[in-house]
Amino acid sequence: MRIGIIGGGQLGQMLGYAGRELGFDCTFLDPSPSPPAADAGPVVKAAFDDGDAIRELAAGVDVLTYEFENVPVEALESAIDVCPVYPPLPALSKAQDRLSEKTLFESLDIPLPGWHAVDSHDDLSAAADRLGLPLVLKTRRFGYDGKGQFVIRSPEDLDAAWEALGGSALIAEAWVPFDYEVSAIAARAVDGSIAFYPLTHNQHAGGILRYSRAPVNVPALDSQARDAARKLAESLDYVGVIALELFVRDGQLLANEFAPRVHNSGHWTIEGAVTSQFANHLLTVAGKAPGDAAARHHSGMLNLIGEIPATARVDRGPATVLHDYGKAPREGRKLGHITVIADSADSRDAALTDLGESVTESIPRFETLA
Ligand code: AMP
Repeated sequence: MRIGIIGGGQLGQMLGYAGRELGFDCTFLDPSPSPPAADAGPVVKAAFDDGDAIRELAAGVDVLTYEFENVPVEALESAIDVCPVYPPLPALSKAQDRLSEKTLFESLDIPLPGWHAVDSHDDLSAAADRLGLPLVLKTRRFGYDGKGQFVIRSPEDLDAAWEALGGSALIAEAWVPFDYEVSAIAARAVDGSIAFYPLTHNQHAGGILRYSRAPVNVPALDSQARDAARKLAESLDYVGVIALELFVRDGQLLANEFAPRVHNSGHWTIEGAVTSQFANHLLTVAGKAPGDAAARHHSGMLNLIGEIPATARVDRGPATVLHDYGKAPREGRKLGHITVIADSADSRDAALTDLGESVTESIPRFETLA
């Protein structure tokens, strides 16, 4: 099985490693000279909007997929008559625009925070009146890791927010005083069968994911999340791994956004699940059934952002695994992650707290789930 993967970042790298174990040949397409995925397979050097290069890659593989959601849909469209492209492009185009994403959640009765489309300063004032403050103003497209977002706490912030983001199509969201954040990750096959990973608890700082741990072990939330993820995936006739990010507030889930790809909050599945999200993405896009997505351990993950300090490289035994993506250090850049596995939630949390304290100084202390 030959799989073409658009994007050669760390997600591509981990897909490629999983592909090797499955006996799949992965070829990547990426414009950078030596992307992380070059460790895992050949890379075609081309721009993401180069439809001809994508079509050429498609001609040499059995299926085409992608590892980040800002791939231009038009460029991928040039390949759909050459080989299957999964996840399906309507899922990609919906995920690229927060407005269509929210409209989709609403049409599926998936609860979500209040929102208001903003195309003018007047719209912004109307959003503040309707949703109240604080609110979060976000660009509809091309936001990631908290970029393209402005939290408006008082009426005086409205002008500054408009000044900062007003050049783009925007959406305002009610601020959710959430208890915590979770993600629901699932893998759906061509025949519609779905494997659900247990819910993952996520802690962000400055809009960037810092810690994940799974399983959350709140059955009522797991079933709500599965229902939402199933409805979403079925409505899109989805194939591959999908990740739905949600806020938890008073025992209820509110959908934030979805990613049509493998997800940072699912990195723990490499060591912690029977089948990793990377293997399951490749299996399902390759037309096969997903493997068992059950957790084998209690797992925690710490993202390494901006630098990989020497303390991250200390040998802590087989239950602590460093993944170094081989990227050059840069502020705010995801360079690697560390996974811990344990036989109870308490020992996992203790290990993750110790790890956070010894490896990172600037990252807020790991908070225990209330
Ligand atoms: P996003 O890019 O939409 O995933 O936002 C990044 C992070 O910012 C989220 O994971 C939350 O921690 C925070 N955030 C985003 N939107 C909201 C909101 N409406 N209310 C509270 N926090 C939010």
